[in-house]
Amino acid sequence: MINKCILCGKKVKNYKPEYCCNGKECGCMGLPIEPPLCNDKKCQEKVYGKQKLKQEASDGIRRYI
Ligand SMILES: [Zn+2]
Ligand SMILES: [Zn+2]
Repeated sequence: MINKCILCGKKVKNYKPEYCCNGKECGCMGLPIEPPLCNDKKCQEKVYGKQKLKQEASDGIRRYI
């Protein structure tokens, strides 16, 4: 079972992975929707900060096209 922080490798307590499906014929590859992440601010900012940047970038491309 995956219960280690994807960034620092620290064990994450009470991590309950939610899966989209078993990964067959799906882009999720059977990976949990939300990756295991510890409560460390540095780790949280890295993960959620990246997601925000991705969203902003895709929005910007649509506008410019
Ligand atoms: Zn961490
Ligand atoms: Zn899936």
